[in-house]
Amino acid sequence: MALTGIQIYKLLPKTNCGECGVPTCLAFAMALAAGKAELSACPYVSEEAKEQLAEASAPPIRPVVIGSDGRCLKVGGETVLFRHEKTFYNPCGLAGQVSDTDPDLLEKVKKWAELKWERIGLTLQPELVFLKCESGDQEKFASAAKAVAQNTDFSLILGCEDPQIMASAAKATQEKKPLLYAATQANADKMCELAAQTGCPLAVRGVDLEEVAELTTELSEAGLKDLVIDSGARDLAGAFLDQVAIRRAALIDKNRAFGFPTIAFANALGETIAEQTAAAAMLLPKYAGIIVLDELAPESLFPLLLQRLNIYTDPQRPMATSPGIYEINGPDENSPLCVTSNFSLTYFIVSGEIETSRVPSWLLVVDTEGLSVMTAWAAGKFAGDAIGIFMKKSGAVDKVKHKKVIIPGYAAAIAGDLEEELVDWTVLVGPREASALPAYLKEFKA
Ligand code: SF4
Repeated sequence: MALTGIQIYKLLPKTNCGECGVPTCLAFAMALAAGKAELSACPYVSEEAKEQLAEASAPPIRPVVIGSDGRCLKVGGETVLFRHEKTFYNPCGLAGQVSDTDPDLLEKVKKWAELKWERIGLTLQPELVFLKCESGDQEKFASAAKAVAQNTDFSLILGCEDPQIMASAAKATQEKKPLLYAATQANADKMCELAAQTGCPLAVRGVDLEEVAELTTELSEAGLKDLVIDSGARDLAGAFLDQVAIRRAALIDKNRAFGFPTIAFANALGETIAEQTAAAAMLLPKYAGIIVLDELAPESLFPLLLQRLNIYTDPQRPMATSPGIYEINGPDENSPLCVTSNFSLTYFIVSGEIETSRVPSWLLVVDTEGLSVMTAWAAGKFAGDAIGIFMKKSGAVDKVKHKKVIIPGYAAAIAGDLEEELVDWTVLVGPREASALPAYLKEFKA
């Protein structure tokens, strides 16, 4: 049973030291009760109080880790229904499915492992391989699992409902902490034993949500903590409704039987890659923890990874690059000096265009609290005088001897203030669009 803010407050040190990030213990207790703070933020909670507070401070959806290194994935741990209420924390994992009877299994997964893209400094890639046992052969399944584990850095989902066959594969790869799929009414006891023995997380599949709740309750009481739910729905509407029902039951009703991340099978909701991708795009925001596809094809994977990136970034915290002076293409004292904001997308677009131009350049990234040039200028965070001060403080003024600085075309209005701050400097108004930078830089004369 969750504790109220006042009950939690009684267990806190009551020194109001503020080290947890809020000014008082009472405010911290209220935040904890609302699931908006982590107990670990207070360094002074006694062990005894920690135990009592464990349930109250536990996230309503348990975070579950699949894998131990490489593309190790944490799913679950969510605290809100809608991203704008706070943020979503742990991006759902994307899995490609292979059969242990597929003669090209290894070739296929190695090809999948090459699918990765750089975006605003992040690597976008799938994390999981769902290995399905279709051979019915204990050794074949185990050796296929080992082959994937040893030859790629994917985390594994082992798909087999025969506990005996599963045991060999799970033991052969247990240091990689694969997700065992799945415990059902028919095999729950044996799968529970195996998950406990190997320390691997266990997926649970029911014919409906009632059966799922019975199974998760039974397995939790047996001591298993790391569970993943498959609601069993294999039609679009059913899968969608079940995902929403599970999330609402965990967050609103505080029903611990549903307080686990989910796995959903987009490959059961469509036949073609396009249909599966559309199904995955529906499941991704609502609220799958893992999505399984038949194929990891660049044309379907890339849009899904981008959608995931959009949904799982914190809406209250703009993505920002560290302010400072950046060298691009090996600049010297005669190279152009450009200025931009520290919104990550702006930084990566501008720096990418400068790189493409092959013109050695300096790029001064100003702290605009992660806002783009136009927004920052409108909010007074991309102001001429402040940029001038930052140019001196960051040492940018000493990097070039021509005393010219290029500002973004959209911020032309700051030129006067900047010139006032940097008395003997010339402020050049660059292009409005970053795409015009290469041509502009090629014409630059020191
Ligand atoms: Fe209170 Fe702990 Fe926060 Fe200090 S860190 S104000 S003791 S809850």
